[in-house]
Amino acid sequence: MDREQELLKNYQDVHNALCGACQEAGRPSQEVTLLAVTKYAQDNDVLFLLKSGLIRHVGESRVQQAEKRWTSPDFSRYNTVKHLIGHLQRNKAAKAAQLFDFIDSLDDFETAQLLSKHAPVGKVLRVLVQVKLTQRATQSGLPLAQARQLVRRLKELPSLQVCGYMGIAPQAASESELRKLFKEVKQAFDEDFATAKERYLSLGMSEDFVVAVEEGSSLPRIGSKLFATHLEGL
Ligand SMILES: *Cc1c(COP(=O)(O)O)cnc(C)c1O
Repeated sequence: MDREQELLKNYQDVHNALCGACQEAGRPSQEVTLLAVTKYAQDNDVLFLLKSGLIRHVGESRVQQAEKRWTSPDFSRYNTVKHLIGHLQRNKAAKAAQLFDFIDSLDDFETAQLLSKHAPVGKVLRVLVQVKLTQRATQSGLPLAQARQLVRRLKELPSLQVCGYMGIAPQAASESELRKLFKEVKQAFDEDFATAKERYLSLGMSEDFVVAVEEGSSLPRIGSKLFATHLEGL
């Protein structure tokens, strides 16, 4: 298998698993958008999936790396929706407000004010509030109750449109623990975004996206499963 066939197979496997999860949950599969996490991927691999028309929403975790890649001529010719999924430092907020379509990792009001202030005139910057699903001190995000408060405050900022929640589940969690965590966020999402005209619930990564989509995620973030290499040892 050459690399392009391998990437197509990875994509097909992810796509099939997403469709299977939707079917299991009785959800239409159009409800779910794949967010391709490109942060560790090789340029050529990302370009191949873009050229094939298979991915449109892309996620990067660092502002500088994202800027270098997505403003280059090879990448900027594609019509993509760019998401920042990593922690945003305040001193990068102005740059991020220009570069990204979505900030999925927002967890503080001062950063939100900076984003709103620096968003180009006429641009509506979509944001998701990051919910903290683990007890780990290093994990970003806010406990659910605080995340919900932040959502209410964000509605007063002119250039931002708050569209939902993002969460990163603990790696060691069992399936039943995962379901419980995802259900809590889903319930808050349904209450807080019931009337939103655009809404996204971003739960699930390569290892837990099937469970996340079964529990209502509409924007699973998938990196390693899409860009994996299986040829080692051959
Ligand atoms: C890296 C990353 C992902 C993708 O993780 P994989 O396990 O490679 O799919 C998803 N979400 C966030 C916030 C990340 O930083």
